Amino acid sequence: MGADILVVEDEPAIQDLVAVNLLRAGYQVRKAFSAEEAQLEIKATLPDLILLDWMLPGMSGIDLARRLRLEPRTRDLPIIMLTARSGEVDKVVGLETGADDFVTKPFSPRELTARIQAVLRRRAPHAAEEASCVGGLQLDPRTHRVSAGAAELKLGPTEFRLLHFLMTHPERVHSRVQLLDQVWGDHVFVEERTVDVHIRRLRATLAQTGHDTLIQTVRGNGYRLSAKPKN
Ligand code: CA
Repeated sequence: MGADILVVEDEPAIQDLVAVNLLRAGYQVRKAFSAEEAQLEIKATLPDLILLDWMLPGMSGIDLARRLRLEPRTRDLPIIMLTARSGEVDKVVGLETGADDFVTKPFSPRELTARIQAVLRRRAPHAAEEASCVGGLQLDPRTHRVSAGAAELKLGPTEFRLLHFLMTHPERVHSRVQLLDQVWGDHVFVEERTVDVHIRRLRATLAQTGHDTLIQTVRGNGYRLSAKPKN
């Protein structure tokens, strides 16, 4: 599962070009044609990164970036500004809005994906594409594949996110509340025992290759993924 990128651009041709290239690079893409539409998308689900056009009808990209920086929920959302202007002053203003990077049109798709990768690595390493490997179990977030040797394991989206989080934070005990926060995301209200349900499903799938023992129950505390035997 590649990083979820929200592309905010009012020109359909550029929007399509960007979307095609990001999809090809393995990202998930959501589109918004105005800042107002982008706010609704962000309210529904927080993206991993936002590509934000400067000149938009209605609220400008810069105004949206400023607003996002003021809100606790979106304060750390990585933002790459897109603009047709290339003046130095504009760059300074763009960076003062809290944008993480600045891409001037016309840009090459390769340049854009390279910039996205760099910002994600720096700001949201969980969304960067590196595969994780623990105890012979391999998870590749970019291709959404989980495998053990030659065997491929099919996981549901929640189990995949859960395993991804556990594999990128191994050896630590995570409470159910922490897992809900990290895996189910913000402002999703589900009961703590939902975590147990998905842990059970995840273990059932991992049992196919004998990797269910990687997920340990820490009584009274939560869960831990560890390649070391439980003591
Ligand atoms: Ca525009």
